Formats: sequence, structure tokens, C-alpha cells
Amino acid sequence: MAAASTLLSHPKPHTNDDVSSLRSHFKPSSFASQSTSFGSSKFASKSLSLRTAATRSGRPEPATLSHSESRSDQTFDVLVIGAGIIGLTIARQFLIGSDLSVAVIDKSVPCSGATGAGQGYIWMGHKTPGSDLWDLGLRSQKLWEELAESLIEQGLDPLQLLGWKKTGSLLVGRTPEDLDVLKRRVKQVCEAGLRAEYLSSSDLHVKEPELLVDKDTGAAFLPDDCQLDARRGVEYLEQGNRNYASKGRYAEFYNHPVISLLRSGGNGDVVAIKTSRNTLHCKKAIVVAAGCWSGSLMRDLLKESEIVLDVPVKPRKGHLLVLENFNSFHLNHGLMEVGYVDHQTANPLPSISTSELLNQDEQSLSVSMTATMDTMGNIILGSSRQFAGFCTELEESIISRIWERAGEFFPKLKEKLFSDISKSREVRVGLRPYMPDGKPVIGPMPGLANVFLATGHEGGGLSLALGTAEMLTDMVLGNSEKVNSAPFTVHGRC
Ligand SMILES: Cc1cc2nc3c(=O)[nH]c(=O)nc-3n(C[C@H](O)[C@H](O)[C@H](O)COP(=O)(O)OP(=O)(O)OC[C@H]3O[C@@H](n4cnc5c(N)ncnc54)[C@H](O)[C@@H]3O)c2cc1C
Repeated sequence: MAAASTLLSHPKPHTNDDVSSLRSHFKPSSFASQSTSFGSSKFASKSLSLRTAATRSGRPEPATLSHSESRSDQTFDVLVIGAGIIGLTIARQFLIGSDLSVAVIDKSVPCSGATGAGQGYIWMGHKTPGSDLWDLGLRSQKLWEELAESLIEQGLDPLQLLGWKKTGSLLVGRTPEDLDVLKRRVKQVCEAGLRAEYLSSSDLHVKEPELLVDKDTGAAFLPDDCQLDARRGVEYLEQGNRNYASKGRYAEFYNHPVISLLRSGGNGDVVAIKTSRNTLHCKKAIVVAAGCWSGSLMRDLLKESEIVLDVPVKPRKGHLLVLENFNSFHLNHGLMEVGYVDHQTANPLPSISTSELLNQDEQSLSVSMTATMDTMGNIILGSSRQFAGFCTELEESIISRIWERAGEFFPKLKEKLFSDISKSREVRVGLRPYMPDGKPVIGPMPGLANVFLATGHEGGGLSLALGTAEMLTDMVLGNSEKVNSAPFTVHGRC
């Protein structure tokens, strides 16, 4: 049953299948021009053509309100395109911070994009004080902590609801050069006001006994770094947003690919979007938070308009290996090798297009050790980065490289054969939204005053989500900004 949905019941938990098996097969299609109306005004609108995306959903259609099914046109103050962590937190922020009504539209379901693959670290340890991302990261981490604390105040358990744990993070180095870098980093981080400590090999061994250490091993320890479970976090956010549905302020349209924009014949503002199933009118703002698809989506949406906008976001594929119910050892903290800092921010092939990147997968593949233990006792090992277009196929050779790299840090893993873990493993594959300059892009789109972009968080979207949501909603609502948004502007970068 096709459904324009106001969600009432909670869907089943997301499966790995949602993440790794997502395939997008684009088919050409178009919509005829038409006039549309919302509120009391009539707009002579032009429809911009687009292709539809057929997606496979890993979970059932949401339950719907019968009255909304019968209406193919609905009006909201804000339309958010994309139900990943960025879109859902933006929707949440509008709901809790204003009285506006919000609809979230996704071509598939939450966690079908990068979000469902996320490891869940909410860390400052691998961010650099003074960098453009530092203040946003700091603000966002604070907002996550406040959310966890507010749950505790309500008698709820953030561990249960978000998979929230304050484990602290260890950024691990294994050469004298690494150790110099780490000591400098600890100094900088302390100067920036966070708690941080340099751990020599003996101190590190006490903190994390399963980690292989020798005289050249050391770590930067940030005791206040946290982690969450991305899928639990998303379920929590969805539930929270749905509380506003009964007040008429919230609706979800899952499995509704956005296919065109309708613009006012007057000032050119976007007044509605068309999905594959209906038309959603917008009174205040449209937010494009479609992760790595944001660039191709905008290109398609604007194809027949006079506006030239190239959002250079690209899919950067990542694999994670989850060892389920792992009982060979316990991790006390989240860990990351120091090389991850470059691995994340490196700009290996900045100026070439995605299709060219397709032919250069091997060159751009990198694997860097990250390790966390989730609330269910699973060990999560990461992670890979490569440019492979929009392909989300699981690559066994990459999993084996993640396994080998982790084995260099945790000798007990080497006591097991790679083949032995195949029955108790889960692999997560996701496409990080990569921006060539390493920063998310958050703000109004030039030429489309009421359309805002929020994407490009690459490997940090979970960490940066709440800060991004606050920044974006403050822009739309005209509130003063808590963090300087200038480094993230769309203008000049797209
Ligand atoms: C292996 C891996 C590990 C990671 N670990 C961490 C971590 O530990 N900490 C951290 O902070 N970050 C981590 N990340 C990064 C983080 O997951 C991403 O930055 C974040 O999920 C991006 O969220 P998003 O909402 O922008 O994109 P997505 O989650 O990809 O969501 C975009 C949504 O837009 C929808 N969409 C696309 N096109 C359309 C359309 N035409 N119409 C409607 N909807 C559309 C998609 O279906 C999708 O649901 C990791 C990523 C990977 C891959």
C-alpha cells in the first residue's frame, strides 16, 4: 500500500541488510509543469524534472493515518530531505526549538545511508584545536552530553536508549614520531580547555591491557570522550520526533524519493517538492540533508533551472567489522590509531570526478584501526575508506585487511583464524558524505533563499549532528549562532 505517512507505530529494528544491501537504480522520469497552491496563495510554479530512485527497504512500511493517505498534497513549515542522523536531528531541533511543523522525506528508511554503518564515537581526541571543525565538534559533543544527562534526569537510561557510554578515547601511536605528535596534541587539547593526558607505554598498558605496547607505544587519552550506538540513537530520535505527530507538527515520508522542486513563478522560492508519490508544500524552508546523494540530487533538481550549483560531495565507502558477543577480551575505552587523523582528512584525489574515482579504487583505499566495544558486548573494528562510486557491496578483501590491521594492535585476535569469525560477525558498509575540503557544508543555497544544505560530514556525522542541527535551525529561525558558521558556508564551496 502506498502511503503518505504520519507514523504511529515503531518499525522493527534495523538490520545490517538495510545498510549493506542498499542499491540505487535510477530510472528516468519527469513531471509535467503545473500550478500548485498552499495556504491561501496561488503560485504559478515550474516543475524541474528529475529521475526517480527505486530503493529496497529493509523494514516494513510505517503505519499510517488514514486521513493523510487520502491527501496527496500536504503543507508543512519545514521539509527535511534525508532521514539520516543529520536530517533527523535537524527535524528534532525544529520540533523542540520552535512551533513549526516538519516533514522528513527519505527515498528509503533511516539507517539505509551512512548513518546505519557508523561506529558511534563522539570524540574530540582526533580533532585538532583551532581547526574549523573544533568548535562545531565541541558544541556538538556538549549537546550530546546534555541530551544524555536530560535522559538521566527523566529517570531514563541513556545507555539503553542511545547506547551512550563515556568510555574516554585513546589515540594510539607506535613510533617516536607518533609520540611527539601525541604529546603536542595533548598540550593543545588541554590549552583548549579539555581534559587530556599523555600515556606512556606502561600507563597505557594499565588502562588498556589487551593492547600490544612496547617502548615506542603511547597514547593521548581524553577521558570525557563518549560513544553511542548509531541505530539506537536513530530509533530514539525517530520516537522523539513522532511525539509531535499527534499535535499535527510532524510526519514521515519514507520510501518517497524526492524527484522535483516546484518554484514560485514570482520570487523563485521553492514552494513544494514532489516525491515519487505526492506533493509536499513548504511555508518556510527546505533542508537538503541527503548525505552523499546531496550533490547528485541537487544537480538533478536544478537541471532545468538557471541556477548553477555544484555540491562537490562524493560517496566515500567504509566497512566496519562487528565481532558479535565477543568474549576473548574486553575493551575499556574507544581506540584509534594516530594515523586515522590523516586517514580521515587526507584529500587523496581531490579534483577528479566520482566516475574517474571508480577506476582508481585501489589507489584510494586506506584502512586505519579503530576499535570500540558496544553495549551488547560486540567489538566493532574499523575502518576502511575508498572511493567506489555509490556501490555498497561488501568486499571480503577489505574486511580481511581490517581484521589484520586490528590484529597488529590486539594480539589475542591473531589467535583466531579469520575464517573462524565468519559465523559471529556482522559487516557494516556505508557511504560517507565526503567534501574535498574536509568540512561539512551547512547553510542557504545561493540563488534559492529558502533551501538549505546540511551535508559533507564524512566520518564525523554522528559526532557533529547535534551541533549541525542547532546551527542550521538557528539560521532558518534567525537566532544568534552559538558556533561561527562561516567555515561551513555553501557560498564559494558549491
Ligand atoms: C564505516 C563508517 C563508520 C563511521 N563511524 C562514525 C563514528 O564513529 N562517528 C561519527 O561521528 N561518524 C561516523 N561515520 C560517519 C557518519 O556515519 C556520517 O557522517 C553520517 O551518518 C552522515 O549522515 P547523513 O544524515 O548526512 O547521511 P546518511 O546517513 O547517508 O543519510 C542520507 C539520507 O538521505 C536519503 N536520500 C538520498 N537521496 C534522497 C532523495 N532523492 N530523496 C529522499 N531521500 C534521499 C538517503 O536514503 C539517506 O537515508 C561513519 C561512517 C561510516 C561509513
